[in-house]
Amino acid sequence: MAFPAAFIDELIVRNPIEDVVSQYVELKRKGGRLFGLCPFHGEKTASFSVSPDAQLYYCFGCHKGGGVINFIMDIEGLSYPDAVRFLANRAGLEVPEDEAYRSQYKLQERLWALCRDAARYYRRQLFSPEGKQAVEYIVGRGLSRQTVTNFGLGFAPPGWSGLLDAMKEMGYSVDELMAAGLALRSQKSGGAYDRFRNRLMFPIIDIRGNVIGFGGRVMDDSTPKYLNSPESIIFNKRKNLFAMNVAKKSKLGYIILTEGYMDAIALHQYGFDSAVASLGTALTEEHANLLSKYTEQIVLTYDSDEAGQNATRRAVPILEKAGLKVKILRMEGAKDPDEFLKKFGADRFRLLLERSENHAEYQLQTLERRYDLSLDEQRVAFLSEAAQMIAGLPSAIEREVYGARAAQSAGITPEAMKIEVNKAYRRRLSREKKAREREAMAPAAHAQPESRSIRYSNLRSAMAEEGLLRMILREPALLDQTGDLAPEDFSSPLLGRTYAALRERSREGLQVSLAALGESFTAEELAHLTQMSQKKNELVSEDAFRDYLGIILDESARSGVRTDQDLLALRDRLKQKKGYGG
Ligand SMILES: [Zn+2]
Repeated sequence: MAFPAAFIDELIVRNPIEDVVSQYVELKRKGGRLFGLCPFHGEKTASFSVSPDAQLYYCFGCHKGGGVINFIMDIEGLSYPDAVRFLANRAGLEVPEDEAYRSQYKLQERLWALCRDAARYYRRQLFSPEGKQAVEYIVGRGLSRQTVTNFGLGFAPPGWSGLLDAMKEMGYSVDELMAAGLALRSQKSGGAYDRFRNRLMFPIIDIRGNVIGFGGRVMDDSTPKYLNSPESIIFNKRKNLFAMNVAKKSKLGYIILTEGYMDAIALHQYGFDSAVASLGTALTEEHANLLSKYTEQIVLTYDSDEAGQNATRRAVPILEKAGLKVKILRMEGAKDPDEFLKKFGADRFRLLLERSENHAEYQLQTLERRYDLSLDEQRVAFLSEAAQMIAGLPSAIEREVYGARAAQSAGITPEAMKIEVNKAYRRRLSREKKAREREAMAPAAHAQPESRSIRYSNLRSAMAEEGLLRMILREPALLDQTGDLAPEDFSSPLLGRTYAALRERSREGLQVSLAALGESFTAEELAHLTQMSQKKNELVSEDAFRDYLGIILDESARSGVRTDQDLLALRDRLKQKKGYGG
């Protein structure tokens, strides 16, 4: 759906970006802009900027950017329409809803209510006579009463329609139960029945406190051992982490990532209230981005078996890409944190946490395991590969420390290893210098957008297109000087669409700004446009504007969009139009 443009404009005016962002980020003024620590990636120096004039934000670190609506979408994890509703609510504006969205949102709210009521139902069953076996299981697993309360644990009775009957009585329909993933339909009879039966139930709660699904664990040997709610309009496994609603408030300063919710719950019970678990999926980029909003430091505590170690190897680059620092906790004498805590207690685990390895150590140990260091030939190969890896570490101290460690493992002197590392380091420096020189010779390659999904096919034209749009954004009156420059003349479809949208807004008497471009641009596109609009601070002049226009038309003609005659006519008209105060 589209909200009326005038409403969106009003929404933006009533929610000044600097006010909205200030509720999440501490901002300090520097010149015409405000700076703060980016809420979307871990950082120590402020590279997140807000421009009150343009009503835009942009992070020079992770390249997120856009207007106030995008900011709310990102930080609250909301869809475009929900972000609009959020801001309307904040400013006390009434949202002009259309019917389709109103019913979609109503369904969402209805399913949240259903899941909350289902959680209460399961909880009542746990403490009913039927739940006796489940309570015994909980006691057997060593979970305290407090933990059961904190996580809202419950019990799904063994019958086929316990939940169905109870929820129908409360006024929910079978369709709603199916939409929430709580009921299934029999292929034979067409009748509905409960998805979760005879299971210990763990409500899955999103960061805003809504129950969005359940995990159910069997109490006997039947399979599957763990059963999760399927994806639904309220439950997205790629975006949610179990216990994140609790962990986000933790004061520990790091978040512990575990493989299963029993591990997360055990950690909470032993005082590590920042443990979270993914929900039957491998760690995703969305998970990493969510985590980076609340911490800079992740401790990975995946199982010590091979599957767990593979998962660790996959997770590290995803987390690091989101700007997170990663430590890997290696457990000995237990396969997972749950077992470790029961065997050795919280103090030993705390010790493990303090000693947990950073990534360099992990890489080094992985490398060590690949070689048989009792054989000379393999030792040489190990040392050479270790030197390469260590040479890539940013600080001299780290290079020295890990160099010495590798030397010790291979039984050589630290001095000999230092020479190897320094050689590898110098080779690397000279490689990088050459790469920089190559780039300086051909600067155009730099001009490609940060986002890999946006590519300029004609850099000469694209740079002019960017320049033209930058000037229009600063001086919308220039739109009168573009003659009949068409969006098709742009070599970059994205910049062409932007030009079309801005021109359309100007014709309708709306504000010409990127902040109000909404749904038809993806978050990535808007971030790129924001960066583009702030890239250069050149003076707005009619001369420069005409130069840009000329290049775009030239390149357009060259690519066959315009005929030469078109071009001549346009050029003539441009020459006649002077007088803009350049
Ligand atoms: Zn950032």
